[in-house]
Amino acid sequence: MADLRGKVAVVTGGSRGVGKGAAEGLAEAGATVVVVGRNAEKNAAATAALRAANTQAQPLALEVDVTQEAACIGMVQTTLERCERLDILINNAGTNIRKPPQDYSLDEWRMLIDTNLTSAFLCSKAAYAPMVKGGGGKIINIGSMTSIFGASFAAPYSATKGGIVQFTKALATAWAKDNIQVNAVLPGWIDTDLTKQARKDVAGLAERVVARTPVGRWGRPDDFAGIAVFLASRSSDFLTGTSIPVDGGYSSQA
Ligand code: NDP
Repeated sequence: MADLRGKVAVVTGGSRGVGKGAAEGLAEAGATVVVVGRNAEKNAAATAALRAANTQAQPLALEVDVTQEAACIGMVQTTLERCERLDILINNAGTNIRKPPQDYSLDEWRMLIDTNLTSAFLCSKAAYAPMVKGGGGKIINIGSMTSIFGASFAAPYSATKGGIVQFTKALATAWAKDNIQVNAVLPGWIDTDLTKQARKDVAGLAERVVARTPVGRWGRPDDFAGIAVFLASRSSDFLTGTSIPVDGGYSSQA
């Protein structure tokens, strides 16, 4: 049920953090993974780790800025040229700027919308035709606890992550006829570069997250390997349009 041999997966932001954890899961299950990020060195380090996880797989690294439409189209074209097909897309690239809502500039707002939300649209749009041609596909969008809860220090980020949930439902309903399943994963607090700064900036955050999370720890990138394989494989063929928290119970606790 979890065999991904012969499948090709593009993971945006696959060079670090949550995306890297998901990419390693897919590679272990046999997929050929295309790691997408802007930094070539980090992409190369991630593909080396993927080779170690599965010596059969031939991962590819692509330097792409997913806020740019031409770059997203090029990412899919290169994937098809090098790997011949595209079955799985994880829209994971994302970032945050933390401050009170009234302090964001319009440029900051637009950068966050472009990176976290518009990128998912651009990559999904580019991936649609090859997925249809291949007989179907799996799209996994990465949301957040701010897809559910408000965060006083992350208004634009929360807007993008709420948007990801509704975008997921819309794609799922539109593309079910094409045998493309679209689901979202909502991570809790995960120990990555993105949250390192938050832990420095927000006093007591590290401890508060542990206290609020029933399993009693921060998430790790490798917590995303299993859910990625499940949502990318035929195990989840009748599952579409959902948003699944992977949060150690954070969103279940009042
Ligand atoms: P990291 O900062 O550790 O990694 C972000 C990844 O996205 C990097 O690979 C980065 O590569 C890539 N990226 C960022 N901007 C672009 C861009 N414009 N084009 C291409 N690639 C880009 O973040 P996390 O792993 O923590 O987060 C990954 C996802 O998970 C995000 O969507 C985030 O919102 C979400 N998330 C994370 C949580 C957490 O607690 N960590 C909680 C909830 C959700 P490069 O810089 O080389 O481009």
